[in-house]
Amino acid sequence: MTLKSGIQPVPGGAGACLMVHGGAWDIPGDVHADHLDGMRQALRLGRRLLREGAPARRVVAEVVAVMESHGAFDAGRGAVLTLEGTVELDAGLMDGATLDYGGVLGVRRIENPVRVAHRLLEASDGRMRLLACEGAERFAAAQGFPLVENEALICARERARYEQLRREAVRYHTSHPFLPPQDRAPQGTVGCVARDRQGRLAAATSTGGTPFRPSGRVGDTPLPGAGYYATAQAAASATGWGEAIAAVLLCARAVDRVAEGLGLEAVVSDRLRHMHTRIRNPEGRGATGGLLLLDAHGRGAWAFTTPRMARGGWYEGGEIWVEV
Ligand code: ASP
Repeated sequence: MTLKSGIQPVPGGAGACLMVHGGAWDIPGDVHADHLDGMRQALRLGRRLLREGAPARRVVAEVVAVMESHGAFDAGRGAVLTLEGTVELDAGLMDGATLDYGGVLGVRRIENPVRVAHRLLEASDGRMRLLACEGAERFAAAQGFPLVENEALICARERARYEQLRREAVRYHTSHPFLPPQDRAPQGTVGCVARDRQGRLAAATSTGGTPFRPSGRVGDTPLPGAGYYATAQAAASATGWGEAIAAVLLCARAVDRVAEGLGLEAVVSDRLRHMHTRIRNPEGRGATGGLLLLDAHGRGAWAFTTPRMARGGWYEGGEIWVEV
């Protein structure tokens, strides 16, 4: 296993900051520019909102919404297709100051599921936190979100990939065509962690799931503790093989480790190593993924065990940075 990790430059003082990811997989060279562009656009919006004093929970939702609408990522308008050829989206977010969270699962008619998750967090008063499928879409419509046809969320790139997978599935997967998780498949899930000027932390993650999965399959992304998590001490967002991430509660365990006083880069690396060692995919390979972590002092770290992860950040007083 190769593991790469790093830290966001440490801000001087109690300024606002954020980090984003655009998925962890073997991101081919011809899509690097798109990934960098999408993250830059998202970070510019996040920087503006944070400078205006917006709360971290709104910032992470709006930053992720930019990446959902961009088309480069496996989220919103760039989502991969299910076995049935549909787009099904999952998203969730959490406010570390209040432990409020919201998430939507398997929605087919919403371009920005993270905004619906945010509305659920704001509007539900703790009575409901996760909504699935048509129920989530009805809630969204009642809240004034536009519903679109599923077809409108299918992009040409993913339609072509789907047709290709259909041809390959006949060859490779006679009994069960769902592809086992692999680093080469697109996993351009998007996520954001932010600390606002009041020191509040939040995390959000959004995905179109894994390519060619059966309709209805949900991974880690909309589940608090798995695909995202935030407390007063730290906020985390994950990407990678959802079944493994959920099994080790990747984000919650990383956040808890920060509260124990361990260094951030050590925590993200250790958690991914742990997942890789404990969980094997059906082909016997260790589970891979990527993780962002931000603490209450505005220190940030990232790590991934896939060939690449798209990542970036900004902190008050510094410049926007993006890398693939
Ligand atoms: N974690 C997502 C899922 O399993 C996919 C990803 O992050 O690439 O649905």
